[in-house]
Amino acid sequence: MANKIIIAIDGFSSCGKSTLAKALAVKLEYVFIDTGAMYRAIALYFLRNGISFDDNVAIENALTKIKLNFQYNTASQKSDMFLNGENVELLIREMKVSSKVSEVAAIAVVRDFAVAQQQAMGQAKGIVMDGRDIGTVVFPKAELKIFVTALPEIRANRRLLELQATNPAITLQEVAENLQHRDLIDSTREHSPLRQADDALVLDNSNISREAQFEIALNWAKERIALAN
Ligand code: C5P
Repeated sequence: MANKIIIAIDGFSSCGKSTLAKALAVKLEYVFIDTGAMYRAIALYFLRNGISFDDNVAIENALTKIKLNFQYNTASQKSDMFLNGENVELLIREMKVSSKVSEVAAIAVVRDFAVAQQQAMGQAKGIVMDGRDIGTVVFPKAELKIFVTALPEIRANRRLLELQATNPAITLQEVAENLQHRDLIDSTREHSPLRQADDALVLDNSNISREAQFEIALNWAKERIALAN
């Protein structure tokens, strides 16, 4: 039985990290964890409960009431996000949450709360985790770190297509502005800003197909799994 490794996938918003992470996890029979979903669920809780993002006492109190769980969905071949027992997988993708999530994810205690759970999930290895700080903070010793990039206009167009499925009224401008807004906050925040780990392999998928991107990453994973044996 091959040794299992940790695969950390980081990058800017909507550059195809989750698609790649999910495909790798299915192929390798690993667990896929979408850490963005955790920050989105926390943001949803804060919005629903009127938690002010600069009220530390209210934030710390709210975090004690938040239980995050993933439950595997056989139809989508990935896990749905559950917030206190409620399936919020679709709700957390709405613009209401997308427009606030980066502010929530910049709060130090929120990051500590999420990162501790992410590290616990990776203890047994055999995991593909995607986010912004997985290779730098969550698993700095991950056997394989991939930093995914794509041109901003390509990312915005891909995201628009995804969002139009549930929200036909959404515009390219709205999507592009949200991506820009999140990228800026994510890469300039004080705590665990988005940055490429020194030992990450860069995968620019602007001009390659999903399949080609998958083959490149799978080969990297196979190499690292062989080295881990
Ligand atoms: O991956 P996704 O775009 O769904 O993530 C939503 C937001 O959560 C990001 O824009 C970022 O602000 C935050 N995030 C983070 N660290 C992670 C994953 C996501 O700060 N590891």
